[in-house]
Amino acid sequence: MKLHEYQAKGVFADAGIPTPDSKLASDVDGVVDAAEEIGYPVAVKAQVQVGGRGKAGGIKLVEDADEARDAADSILGMDLKGYHVDRVLVEEAVDFVNELYVGITMDRGEGKPVAMVSTKGGVNIEEVAEEDPDAIAREHIDPSFGMHPYQARKAVYDAGVDQSVARDVSSVLTTLYQLWDDKDGADAEINPLMVTADDEVIAADAVMNIDEDALFRQPELAEMEEEAAGGDELEQKADEYGFDYVRLDGNVGIIGNGAGLVMTTLDLVDYYGGEPANFLDVGGGAKAARIANALDMVFSDDNVDSVVFNIFGGITRGDEVARGINEALEQFDEIPKPVVVRLAGTNWEEGMEILNEDLVTVEQTLEDAVQRAVEYAGEVNDQ
Ligand code: GDP
Ligand code: MN
Repeated sequence: MKLHEYQAKGVFADAGIPTPDSKLASDVDGVVDAAEEIGYPVAVKAQVQVGGRGKAGGIKLVEDADEARDAADSILGMDLKGYHVDRVLVEEAVDFVNELYVGITMDRGEGKPVAMVSTKGGVNIEEVAEEDPDAIAREHIDPSFGMHPYQARKAVYDAGVDQSVARDVSSVLTTLYQLWDDKDGADAEINPLMVTADDEVIAADAVMNIDEDALFRQPELAEMEEEAAGGDELEQKADEYGFDYVRLDGNVGIIGNGAGLVMTTLDLVDYYGGEPANFLDVGGGAKAARIANALDMVFSDDNVDSVVFNIFGGITRGDEVARGINEALEQFDEIPKPVVVRLAGTNWEEGMEILNEDLVTVEQTLEDAVQRAVEYAGEVNDQ
């Protein structure tokens, strides 16, 4: 579970990490009011759970009420990398001279958490890791003993952080580790940790991912989950329908009954040169209404150019699913995106006969079905 920036900042601030003054707003007047209260200049920041918001136009620095209004107008309601922006964080702008990176994550190779520090903050840290791995200092931590203060100082020293702020950065790093440990963090990250001309350090961004399996013992964080889910309308819809759904970056929509089937389909789409748009498991009992809901979800994702069904009949028989698919598609005057179906298992032959080939493309094998869907998606891209 990923916290929003404003939620993570709240958690960090409670633990004593310096954060800028800020307020959450969801309409233009709210943004202006918040900005007046905090005092200009302020940063207006889209609250969606993707990185690189700055580059994508989701963060604006404003000097007065007019600019605040314009920024709120353009950011609220925008589509940021597939996420609908319905709230912004209005935040005291930080006048910085340097941007650092500090983070804690699990190093699965070593089986230990690792603390990371870099003076190349403010940019995508994965890129730094690839292009200039030595620019990130790393210190592994033994979870049974926690992070020793000397380990924090060593990481900060190794990264080449200026002497004048080394103490404060070490202390932020130690606190971040403590939080990661106490809150069952999967990752905790501050990028950038800004350094001001007066040698103050302040967390200008905050990322905190919580281990889902530990949420039962983190009731305060679990409460944030519902709020955190906000923003992605499709993920909310999936919750309502009771589907397992994950949005991905590609354009081939995938629907299957069973997590394993869906995973296999994702792999095959990738294998045949396509890119999956989503993971969608409709689960057992895939009757007409459920199929219609699944199609409705996948069709309403603008990134989707074709859809592939991978259905294995078990308790839910192939003929029932086939009727469901027909019924769902008959509601459209025009099918929005080409649909390919592969049926196997109980009553698959009846199912194949029932499927209306004016509405869908039917393939015998999963390989053929996936290849066809990838082809359709590619044709849309070529236009
Ligand atoms: P991300 O791109 O989604 O990770 O969003 P960040 O919160 O990290 O902001 C991206 C960049 O916007 C930062 O590295 C800064 O350069 C700039 N920025 C964000 N907040 C402020 C601020 O308060 N003052 C100034 N000057 N720049 C800011
Ligand atoms: Mn950032």
